[in-house]
Amino acid sequence: MNTILLQVLSVTKRYHNGTVMIDALKGVDLTIYKGEIVTLLGVNGAGKTTLSSIIATLHPATSGDIIKNGISIYKDVVKYRRTIGFCPQKPNIDMMLSLEENLFFAGLYFGLSQTIIKERTEYLLNRFGLTQYRYSKGSILSGGYKQRFLLARTLMHNPDLVILDEPTVGLDPHIRRDIWEVIKDLKKDGITVLLTTHYLDEAEKLSDRVCVLDKGVIKIIDTPEHLIQKHNQTNLEDVFVALIEESKAE
Ligand code: ADP
Repeated sequence: MNTILLQVLSVTKRYHNGTVMIDALKGVDLTIYKGEIVTLLGVNGAGKTTLSSIIATLHPATSGDIIKNGISIYKDVVKYRRTIGFCPQKPNIDMMLSLEENLFFAGLYFGLSQTIIKERTEYLLNRFGLTQYRYSKGSILSGGYKQRFLLARTLMHNPDLVILDEPTVGLDPHIRRDIWEVIKDLKKDGITVLLTTHYLDEAEKLSDRVCVLDKGVIKIIDTPEHLIQKHNQTNLEDVFVALIEESKAE
């Protein structure tokens, strides 16, 4: 049976840009189940980043609530943050520090003890094939290895929900596939993943369900297979193009 991990309930977000108000989310409801990979899709401006960054508590919702394991995340944001990992699109590794030092500070940030930091550092460097770079500065890593390291650092405090914002943007195709394997391994470990991507092949390969946002509302939530079948297409990209055409015609 599917167990609910997180529920987004009637979430809205209104930005105030000078005198202009932008309703980026207009009442979003989304249930995320334990152990699944859910991908947010939508054209630029649809509200994907706003939704994922509200779930990551980078900024608050204007209204609505988010429930994790039965409790509003806003009751204790610090406690909630210790259970989630957020991997930003732009690598924010401290380039002057070694990978080991970067992990050390990530561990301190999450209040881990020195013993746990040591254990997690060993585990993650080994798990992500980064042991040989442990004393190297972040600046020497290639784009693919930077992304691998960001994912490793995201797991430092052993979160059960990981939010990945465009994890493969700008990477070469073979490196993107390498990162896909890393993401699939997260799922194998029982970690729930909320992914944002512009790559439809990536969404099709990785997602248990895709959630299509359109002008601040969820238009569709379904499995890629079902969407492809329902829209009589051969891949998710063609489904997505068909949906955009529908949205323009509305
Ligand atoms: P997406 O990630 O799907 O491209 P966003 O969530 O970034 O969409 O943006 C949704 C809408 O909110 C857009 O109209 C965007 O211009 C607006 N928006 C996003 N961030 C801000 C902000 N910090 N201030 C004002 N408007 C914003």
